Formats: sequence, structure tokens, C-alpha cells
Amino acid sequence: MAKQAARKRSNRTGPTRHIFVTGGVVSSLGKGVAAASIGRLLVNMGYQVRIQKFDPYLNVDPGTMNPSQHGEVFVTDDGVETDLDLGHYERFLNQPLNRHSTYTAGQIYQSVLQKERAGKFNGGTVQVIPHITNEIKEAARVFDGEDVDVVITELGGTVGDIESLPFVEAVRQFMHEHGRKYVSLCHLAYIPYIKAAGEIKTKPAQHSVQKLREIGLMPDFLFCRTEQSLNKEVKDKLALFCNVDRDNIIEMADVPLSIYEVPNILIKQNVHTLLAEQLNLSNSDCDMHDWDLMLRHIRNPKDTLNIAMVGKYVSTQDAYKSVNEAIYHAGFANLVKVNITTIESTDLEKDKSIQRKLKNVDAIIVPGGFGNRGFEGKLQTIRYARERGIPYLGLCLGMQAACVEFARNVLGLKQANSTEMDPQTPDPVIDLMESQKEITNLGGTMRLGAYPCQLPIKGSRTTKCYGGADQIDERHRHRYEFNNAYRKQFEEAGMRFTGLYYPDSHQPDNWLVEIVELKEHPFFIATQAHPEFKSSPVNAHPLFKGLIAAAYKRKRELAE
Ligand code: GLN
Repeated sequence: MAKQAARKRSNRTGPTRHIFVTGGVVSSLGKGVAAASIGRLLVNMGYQVRIQKFDPYLNVDPGTMNPSQHGEVFVTDDGVETDLDLGHYERFLNQPLNRHSTYTAGQIYQSVLQKERAGKFNGGTVQVIPHITNEIKEAARVFDGEDVDVVITELGGTVGDIESLPFVEAVRQFMHEHGRKYVSLCHLAYIPYIKAAGEIKTKPAQHSVQKLREIGLMPDFLFCRTEQSLNKEVKDKLALFCNVDRDNIIEMADVPLSIYEVPNILIKQNVHTLLAEQLNLSNSDCDMHDWDLMLRHIRNPKDTLNIAMVGKYVSTQDAYKSVNEAIYHAGFANLVKVNITTIESTDLEKDKSIQRKLKNVDAIIVPGGFGNRGFEGKLQTIRYARERGIPYLGLCLGMQAACVEFARNVLGLKQANSTEMDPQTPDPVIDLMESQKEITNLGGTMRLGAYPCQLPIKGSRTTKCYGGADQIDERHRHRYEFNNAYRKQFEEAGMRFTGLYYPDSHQPDNWLVEIVELKEHPFFIATQAHPEFKSSPVNAHPLFKGLIAAAYKRKRELAE
């Protein structure tokens, strides 16, 4: 995909183009997916695309927010804790993002206040307009340059929210300064279907466009999120009352199969040519070859697998977004459909019958997490997977838990634990990293971002998954690590350390254990990293791919 984009360099003339994506009526409409899909089209048209999200909340980043409330925290290579929409961007564009792909109101204000404290405003009064809006515009321009053709900026929240106002005003100023030839505004609105009346209602969308107009913004495109197809009459009405060209009323009905169909839905409505025209971009051919192949795989699975994900943030659908997506990608790559059952680990602790839920699963994943609640349930799950030969993949806390379970039930260290869960444990097989011991400030201070990892054991399953590589890199987000004092004991009992990070010297005492596996098990790999962040639908992550392949193999063997 990247090669294809490079081959079709755009020869753009004029400045970097900008597309702003706003949302109206309600949240959770899939604005991130819409922005990412537009990005995919532009990449496949041969343009160099950058994509970013502005979030109007006051947290400096979502790193300190509870996943049950805000969904997953996505981590970039350069170690920034970001909104989960950045995950969509990376997956759809199949390219890594960095710190400039995310700005929150908190971060914008922090930067302005730091400048104020440093006397940068020459004694002037510091105000939302112009100082905050200037800072926002600067953030929107951060990627501009020769090598970037189009920047897509998604505004979080819903137009009309008080906290979004400075962002919307900044977009207005930006559009005024840059001119309509090079900037496009895409507004995504909800078009409800009132079942009792059997009618589709355009009024909420009209009102949300009115909110934009109040501030002086006129959308170029209206993306309509809807459960029912929109007929001609409804589209005409939306065009007239929202003051948008009739062709630019784009229907985005719920996708039955996968969110990865959205780019194709947009192509069918000519979004690529309409955008190219509006932004004065010369090339409007969009070659979706690789994407179409992936969609064909999704549409024609050979079998169905059931995967259990045992975690504690199960009340929010989005809490394990990247893990879910990585599982689906691995399914696409193995030509199987995967059903994911999320199991609340605290329920496993109190209600033994829930263990029955694990009976028919083909593989088990314990994802990342924090704190004691539900930890014992995760240990029970891992024991179940280890003893019954069920393919297991542990992610971050899922690796730490795998080590605690192994210490307790294989090494017989009955009170072994992570010091995160029990600071007094006599056997701290997982302990706070040395570098974390003095840290008191919680924001952005974990071990974050991409680190290289050596794969020292040639024939290990881990190395095989990674295609024989001897070094890889993966992203991290944790404070605790495997305690090297126990390494020998673990090794002697059959746990292999198949991924290691050598921090500053090759002294074994300094190594960080990054990946472990059990030799005598069909597939038992656990990693301190978050490989889920690097999976994309056209490039499934090797560990997830390996897990699903092992699960499929086991299923076929059991059926024989
Ligand atoms: N709570 C563990 C740690 O801080 C694991 C973190 C995670 O799973 N992301 O090390």
C-alpha cells in the first residue's frame, strides 16, 4: 500500500490542503472512521496524507482517564497517550502517527499558559481569541510543507458544545485565511429514523449545520450517519436546508459487515473526485486494489472461531478497541470470522459457572489493565488456558499475570504476585521498574512508546511469528516489569524468555523481559508490549495472526 502511494506521487501544486471534519447532533457517530476513510481514499489517490484529532476536553491527554469512561488509550511510537480515534487513523492509513496527531484543549491551554508565564505576550491580556485560537491554528498547520499534500483534522465533540467553541472558531479563521480553494469542511450528522412514524428526520442535522453557520462556517460536505437508506427527497431536503451541494450529501448507512467497508461506500458516492475537485487536486483516480482484496477476505471466511477476552473494562465497547481490531485483522489474514466474547474477570472470581463460558473458546486473550480488581480472575483464566492447551496471548498485564500464575501454580510460590497488586508479596515476580520508583506525577510518565526488542531464541514460536526476525519493535505503556531475580527459576520450569530489551548494557541483570512463551504448549505467548497498536487490516500483527492460526489448527484437530 505504501509502495503504491509512493509510486503515484501527486505532483501537487499550491499549498498543503486541509480537510476539517466536525460532528453534529450526537457523539459516537463514527467521525473517526469517517475521517480515517477519507484519509484512505487520499492515500490511494497517491497523496501524502497526515491526520490529526483535536479534543476539546481539558485533560492534557487521555492517559489518566479511565477506559470505562473514555475507551482505550492509544499509544503512538513516540510515546504519546492519545484518543482511540488515532487507532482508526493508523489502521486505515497503515502509517504510524506521532505527537502532532493529537491536541487537546488542555494541551493548547497549557502551552498558552506556559508562554504567558514566560512573558511571551509582552504584557498583553491573554484571551481565548486570539491566543487560544492562534495556538489551535498553529496545531492545524503543524504538518504543512512540501512533502504533505493533505492534512485531515477531526474535531472531537459535537458542534454546539461550549467547550468546542474555540476550536470551531479557529477553523472559521483558518478557512478565512487559507481560502476555500484549499480547505474543505466535512460535517457528519445523525439522521434518525423514527420507527413509530416510519420516517427519517432531517431536522437535527439541519440544526447542527445551523450551529456551524452561527459561527460563520458553511460545510462543503454533509456526511449522513443513518440506519436507513436516504431517498432522493430526503437528500434534496438536506441539500436545500443545509446549504450543501446535492452531490455532496453523502450517505453513511450502518455497515453490516465491517467498518473497513466505509472507504468503498464513499468511493461509490464519488467522494474522492468531489474532494479532489474542491481542493484543486489534479489526481482523482483511486486504486483500492489492496483494500478490496482485504474486503474479499472478510466476506468469504472459511470458518468461525470464538475468542474470549478476559478483562475488567467490559462495560465500554471501546475499552479494548485496538485489541478487538487486531483480532479481526488476524481473522481476515487467516480467512476466518472471529467472534469475540468479552468476559468480566471479576465475574470469573465469584461465579464458577462462568468458567463454562471458557469451555467452547478457541483462544483466550488477557489484555492490558491496571489495579487489583479482577486480577485473580485473570490468573484463573490463564491457568485454564495453560493447563488445557488453549492458545493464549497475554498483552502487557496479560504477560505479568501469566508470570504470576506460572510462579504460583508451576513453581509453587503460592503468594507470588505483582507488587502493583500486593506490595507486601514475599515473591514479587513482577515489580516496579527501577526507572519508575521516584515518579509521583501520573501523566505521561509510564514507560511509553516504541522500544526495540531482541528475539534471541532462533526456533522459538515468537521468532517464527515474527518471520525469523532477530529484532523487532513494539509500543509500551506500563510501570511494572518481570523481576529478573526469578528468571532462572522460570526458565528451569519451562518458561522461555523469547523477547528481551537491553537498556544500556548487555548485563543480564539489566535486561527487561519483553516476551515470554511456554515451550510445551501449542501457543502460549505473552508480551509486555501492546502489539495491538501496530495491527492494520491490510497488515495483521504477527502475534495475533499466530494466535488465530493456532486456534484454527486446534479447532480442526479437535474436529477430526
Ligand atoms: N498495570 C501494569 C503496569 O503498569 C500493566 C499495564 C498495562 O497493561 N498497560 O505495568
